[in-house]
Amino acid sequence: MSAQQVVLLNASYEPLGKVSFQHAVRMLFREVALVEEQHGERMIGPHPWPRVIRLVRYVAAHWLHRPAGWSRSGVLIRDGQTCAYCGRHGTTVDHVLPLSRGGGSSWLNTVAACAGCNHRKANRTPAEAGMRLRVTPYAPTRAKLAAL
Ligand SMILES: [Zn+2]
Repeated sequence: MSAQQVVLLNASYEPLGKVSFQHAVRMLFREVALVEEQHGERMIGPHPWPRVIRLVRYVAAHWLHRPAGWSRSGVLIRDGQTCAYCGRHGTTVDHVLPLSRGGGSSWLNTVAACAGCNHRKANRTPAEAGMRLRVTPYAPTRAKLAAL
């Protein structure tokens, strides 16, 4: 993953998150960013191989501090692919209040879960299923999600 991702700093050196390698290279060629830390001696065109890039001009990154849009993959990233019920590896997304009972696909109503717990909980609330959430779901900002 680290080879594919490049850390993006604001002009003020404040970390803004990570961008894909391709995105970083495009920013270098558009001259909106400079290589701050390079990866070995390799070059990509006239530029050092980027590991950390920095924006030439400061951007007020307020959007980064707004909640990210909800997605299944985002939930798994937020929860570190850890099951919210048993703490084991979780690759499925559970709706705390099931969809069929009016629960929405939102940050606060979804958690990562292992297939076993997801299956066991089925169409019930955690209380009905006698299962306890080990984490409190929260809405991550874009910056937080990018940094995980
Ligand atoms: Zn589990």
